[in-house]
Amino acid sequence: MAKKILQGIPASVGIAIGKAYILTRDHDCIAPMQSISEELVDAELKRLKDAIDMTIANLKSLKSKIPAEHTEYSSIIDTHIMVLEDAKFYETIARYIKNMKLNAEWAIEKGIGDIERSFRDIEDEFFKTRISEIKFLGRKILNNLIGVDQEIKPILSRVILVAHELTPADTVEIDVSKIMAFVTSQGGKTSHVSIVARTLGIPAVVGIEDIDEIISDDQLVIVDGFTGTIIIEPDENEIVDYIEKQEKFEKYKRELYQERRVPAYTKDKCHIKVMANIEFFEEVTSVLEYNSDGIGLYRTEYSYLYKPHLPTEDELYEEYRDLLTIMSPRPVVIRTLDAGGDKIGKGFEKIEEANPAMGLRAIRFCLRNKDIFKTQIRAILRAAVSGNCFLLLPMISGLEELLEAKKVIECAKEELQREGKQFNYDLPIGIMIEVPSAVCVADALAKEVSFFSIGSNDLIQYSLGIDRTNKYVAHLFQPLHPAIIRGIKHTVDVAKQAGIQVTMCGEMAGDPFCVPILIGMGITTLSLSPNAAPGIKRMVRMLSYKECKELVDNVLKGKSVIENNRIVRQKIYDKIPEELQFYTSFFEKQ
Ligand code: PEP
Ligand code: MG
Repeated sequence: MAKKILQGIPASVGIAIGKAYILTRDHDCIAPMQSISEELVDAELKRLKDAIDMTIANLKSLKSKIPAEHTEYSSIIDTHIMVLEDAKFYETIARYIKNMKLNAEWAIEKGIGDIERSFRDIEDEFFKTRISEIKFLGRKILNNLIGVDQEIKPILSRVILVAHELTPADTVEIDVSKIMAFVTSQGGKTSHVSIVARTLGIPAVVGIEDIDEIISDDQLVIVDGFTGTIIIEPDENEIVDYIEKQEKFEKYKRELYQERRVPAYTKDKCHIKVMANIEFFEEVTSVLEYNSDGIGLYRTEYSYLYKPHLPTEDELYEEYRDLLTIMSPRPVVIRTLDAGGDKIGKGFEKIEEANPAMGLRAIRFCLRNKDIFKTQIRAILRAAVSGNCFLLLPMISGLEELLEAKKVIECAKEELQREGKQFNYDLPIGIMIEVPSAVCVADALAKEVSFFSIGSNDLIQYSLGIDRTNKYVAHLFQPLHPAIIRGIKHTVDVAKQAGIQVTMCGEMAGDPFCVPILIGMGITTLSLSPNAAPGIKRMVRMLSYKECKELVDNVLKGKSVIENNRIVRQKIYDKIPEELQFYTSFFEKQ
């Protein structure tokens, strides 16, 4: 068999060398398509209902087998169960039986197709991921309807799992302790397989077209999760090289894990707090495991997008209260809903927008939907008595927006006071600095808030005019662009002058090439994904504030991206080359 080298998207770091196991669903059945007579409608509706109920029972039984430490899986299954229990889901399928007199199998095909199409029209990777889950649920119901055994064939030894796509529920059914790496045709950096792989610390490469047809069962494969390279049938030299790389990385990870409780002080004793960005409540376990100094960004929108209905104030209150209680006395920064545009939750007003990223997103959505906004604010204010809470407003572009948002917060406080409910009157309020106009008027904004949190992902997107999800302009997404560096420096200086805290919570906080610059500017709080914390903490310990400041002075004179990249890379490679060996290619491909 000839050697093949393929290139995909690196989704989770690490190296794996092993035999391929192709995940095929050869038990999937072909649905018989028939029209039915009026008299059979009720019987067919009952068949459909029974098959959905059986699928719910299957998922519940699956959930009961999940080890307690993998709570992230349980919550994914809960979401699937919620979808299946949603009356609208049932109706979308059932109407084909009632109105068009199709048999249940055909109705499932049609109904699932409708849901898929409505998700496909939304240009957002979050919804693209949901499509594969909806398809998966359709398949499960269909198999139950026809009575086909749909278990995945058992995995007997440690393998590299290759699949066209991998849904969260697939990853639950598979014994993950047997998986050395994931390789899939579908998916991007934020799809579930990537998130699960990163959480489990398993290397993953996604987005290689037809990979499940190119590789065969038992073929030897090398997966390089740093570069996204896959080598099928590697030669001996390649195997030796990769084993060496793998051993080095494993040793590096073991050391990092052992020192995860060591705080991040620079050589000249400057304390850098390394906090965590989370999207789901369940990630709090990783936050504690990796000993983050707190939660620097809780992206609350996912609680809305996953639920089949708008969350109630009490549901949100309980979620935030539990998070704050678990984390106390460490700080938790709760960001209000950054939805709208292309992230539409159930119960949200649907609006057609030509340019959603610049549309009714985040605070703009909230100020148009003040009832949804106020419900969340009330929940945060109430929960804030249970821990060290901070409230963060996203996408503020100017003073008017901030003042209007603050009015809603005041109104929520008055209501709670009138109702005699307990809440934190002095809850500190901060804003994301992620729109270029906010950088320009940072001095005016600083007078109104307790802290700034810089969102470099959007700040780069909006400053450089680059859609952060568009792969054709991804090469222009450059954190060290002089405009970005100057914008961040200005923001930090303004915050210092105003005497307020400033945090970096965008991806720059976890990028080894950016961390020295951020420290040199005087940023003392970084927020990044929980399991990246020990690596960044170690890096901080190898730097001094003084040398970082010198680096910033040099970079501020830089006129181009190339010049700045060169200055920083040269300096950082010289300082800590071994650290970056593992991460450079991964970050360069972001
Ligand atoms: C950012 O824009 O940098 C940020 C942290 O927010 P998000 O990635 O959720 O838009
Ligand atoms: Mg943002």
